[in-house]
Amino acid sequence: MSVTHAPQSADVLRRQDPELAEILLGELLRQSSTLQLIAAENFCSPAVLAALGSPLANKYAEGYPGARHHGGCEIVDVAERLAVDRAKALFGAEHANVQAHSGSSAVLAAYAALLRPGDTVLALGLPYGGHLTHGSPANFSGRWFDFVPYGVDAETGLIDHDQVRTLARSHRPKAIVCGSIAYPRHIDHAFFREVADEVGAYLIADAAHPIGLVAGGAAPSPVPYADVVCATTHKVLRGPRGGMILCGAELAERIDRAVFPFTQGGAQMHTVAAKAVAFGEAAAPAFTAYAHQVVANAKVLAAGLAGEGFVVTTGGTDTHLVTVDPAPLGVDGRTARGRLAAAGMVLDCCALPHTETRGLRLGTAAVTTQGMTEEQMARIAALLAGVIRGEAETTKAREEVRDLVGGFPPYPA
Ligand SMILES: *Cc1c(COP(=O)(O)O)cnc(C)c1O
Repeated sequence: MSVTHAPQSADVLRRQDPELAEILLGELLRQSSTLQLIAAENFCSPAVLAALGSPLANKYAEGYPGARHHGGCEIVDVAERLAVDRAKALFGAEHANVQAHSGSSAVLAAYAALLRPGDTVLALGLPYGGHLTHGSPANFSGRWFDFVPYGVDAETGLIDHDQVRTLARSHRPKAIVCGSIAYPRHIDHAFFREVADEVGAYLIADAAHPIGLVAGGAAPSPVPYADVVCATTHKVLRGPRGGMILCGAELAERIDRAVFPFTQGGAQMHTVAAKAVAFGEAAAPAFTAYAHQVVANAKVLAAGLAGEGFVVTTGGTDTHLVTVDPAPLGVDGRTARGRLAAAGMVLDCCALPHTETRGLRLGTAAVTTQGMTEEQMARIAALLAGVIRGEAETTKAREEVRDLVGGFPPYPA
């Protein structure tokens, strides 16, 4: 296997544990030789990887800076304060908790801070793009809270604001959640704030997907509107895998206690440090350009797919996300995903509102990090359509994909 560039850690592994080194290099090769269109993924920087692979991983740090349950935290305290300060500055938030282990952990903590078991919560239904933590019966959320789902309009695919208002008035939820895993449009936070105020509910924005666009000024911020903003740090934001919670000063203590000690143990300081690195990167002008290019790319990809005959949900996108129904090309999402995978194009299936069939969800965060622009998006749309229609022979398409991504290595030598 020839990999021209591998993280330093691979060299250490190669000497001590060739079996695992092979796996690491194999995954690096997979990431750099196939097309990464999974909307939740990205390529974090070598600096973020360096923090993740650092001896900070050894440190136990229960509690918060200046108030830890373990000794020897004086250095990692500086790292966490730096991450918190950078997050607050980046998003204009009064308070930031950077310890949440993941997006789901952040949502769990937000509920723990604001709700009691059995409380009613209004959230986008799962068939319309709600996350598991928005009331799935397979998740703690559906088990412990009484979720009332709102949906999207059958014609436009846009969030049904009238339904949100009506359901809020009749169910008087304790909290309203806005945010989605697949909604390609901006969310009208002012509208949700207004409804929440009318019925006396908390507004929780689960901005796991668009928070990176918010950081780069390419999407409206939920921070001025929501009581609590939950997010991930690894999607468009391009940091380490992890979660984050932003809120006003008045909820700061409740949120912090809901993360530790209520739902988590010790903070993962290597990840907290890597979050600080990512926030630093996201504050730089280059990231603003990146975030806008992500959206520009998604718009061209959506238009290209529409031109190939796909039905594009909501008719387009405002974000990094594009969801499509491939039915006009003669296949459902699952079959399409299989054909694309064989040709080296990696993406997800998704629910399609108001249908029984599966669609495809694509995102441009990763390919934009690689340096691809509008020109490549048009090519990708044509490639996708050719493979799904079965026009392009798989091995030939695979070669074309390899050729395309070969010009944009995610970790150049
Ligand atoms: C990705 C996502 C999450 C969960 O993040 P994990 O880190 O996978 O737990 C939660 N909510 C939304 C809306 C998401 O998109």
